[in-house]
Amino acid sequence: MSARVISLRSPADGTALGEVPITSEAEVREASRLAEATYRSGRWSRLAPRGRAAVLLRLADLMQRDLTLLARLDCEDAGKPITECLQNDVPSSIESIRWFAEAVDKQYGRTSSAGGDVLAFTEREPFGVVAAILPWNYPLAMAAWKVGPALAAGNSLILKPADATPRSVLHLADLAAEAGLPDGVLQVLPGDGPTTGAALADDPIIGALSFTGSTTTGRSILIASARSNLKRVSLEMGGKSPQILMDDALAFGDDLIDGMIESAFLTSGQNCTAGSRILVHESIHDAVVERFAAAAARLRVGHPADPATRLGPVIDARSAERILGAIDQSRREGATVVTGGREVGIAPGGHYLSPTVLTGIAPDAEITQQELFGPVVTIQSFRTRAEAIEHANDIPYGLAASVWTTRLDDALVLARGVEAGLISVGEYSEGDLTVPFGGWKQSGFGGAEKSLRAFEQWTREKSVWIRHRGA
Ligand code: NAD
Repeated sequence: MSARVISLRSPADGTALGEVPITSEAEVREASRLAEATYRSGRWSRLAPRGRAAVLLRLADLMQRDLTLLARLDCEDAGKPITECLQNDVPSSIESIRWFAEAVDKQYGRTSSAGGDVLAFTEREPFGVVAAILPWNYPLAMAAWKVGPALAAGNSLILKPADATPRSVLHLADLAAEAGLPDGVLQVLPGDGPTTGAALADDPIIGALSFTGSTTTGRSILIASARSNLKRVSLEMGGKSPQILMDDALAFGDDLIDGMIESAFLTSGQNCTAGSRILVHESIHDAVVERFAAAAARLRVGHPADPATRLGPVIDARSAERILGAIDQSRREGATVVTGGREVGIAPGGHYLSPTVLTGIAPDAEITQQELFGPVVTIQSFRTRAEAIEHANDIPYGLAASVWTTRLDDALVLARGVEAGLISVGEYSEGDLTVPFGGWKQSGFGGAEKSLRAFEQWTREKSVWIRHRGA
């Protein structure tokens, strides 16, 4: 057993939450060998898809049974508001497991047009041993996006939760065993990035690795794949997503402000698709700033275990310091802090920031370019649709964008012009499970999560060519 441990502490108030081992490189190798043996045994991989679906549907039922516990674990580990965990994260995780379980036996390969004495077809097969490395901000939900399609497709999966948020994912593995998943098909290895994460990225047995986290880490995983076994890497990374408001956006009334607030401040702004850059037509700039900032100031900042809390703490002291530093830097560059910009004393040991709205920012200011991962938005104005698209695209990321206009032409031109993997119009949305999810540019490789597309991430295509003889 590993000698080194991670001491888990609540981001809300520093309460000790126990400890987990840091899985060592040798233990990662052991886990991948076990996964390989399990895969080869065929106990899971060669089970008929309907049989795999039945186990995963039982897992979903068990998650439903333990919904409150799973929500509490994510709330405690990540400092996420309990209401978000209960109403969004855990229900959407259950739905995700169900959706992929139900989809797995409804897929078909292709028959080619080779003709003559040949029958040629393609089918998709699992990789065998696969892995996923997870971020801390949606511990269970990101696990579910990977577990559903990876296991439904017949792989053996190794999951590494983020350093600080392993407990809901460890419980998920217990539930999977209770549901009847054979040993070794799903292994959860807690640990840190440099030890456990890096060992997975370098592992020679793992055939595909799906990563969700920051762009910096994603880059190092791609390098590790290149120097090890060229495992297929899928990357879902950070963002700096724009919310674009055309001159008619106020026609959406309260839906506009509610949607903007949700986009900006869900999980205290620590959300990959957070609409942290608001671009608004100059004719409604002042009205939007006034209404949005007033709504932001009304949001209740509090302990995440309190059901009335809308914004909990940021993940740790370093994050708070980085975010407050960026706000100060913007102030020095002439920005106006319309609301927020400070730490709120909710509980010692936690770092709570007030929802912050900044205006008067230069288009190329650093705060508009880099992901801050906190409850901070900038509001900038534009004059023309072309200028809005130019501003929206002038960043290294391309994860998501939301567009507020009632005019079809504007909606379509913006939806097609903005360089991002997901555009929502008339609301802030990441789409449901039927819609592919994934970023462009330095946000990722695009569209590999959710929907039937997710199976492509976890399977490889084989072509079979058969010549027959005789009439
Ligand atoms: P992070 O990159 O710091 O860590 C993510 C995971 O990578 C953790 O499990 C960590 O232990 C591991 N890791 C760290 N160094 C590693 C290394 N050298 N080799 C292998 N693994 C390593 O990210 P985070 O702070 O946990 O998560 C926040 C980031 O995730 C944000 O940038 C956010 O936008 C992004 N995110 C993206 C999506 C998406 O779907 N695009 C969803 C959620 C979060």
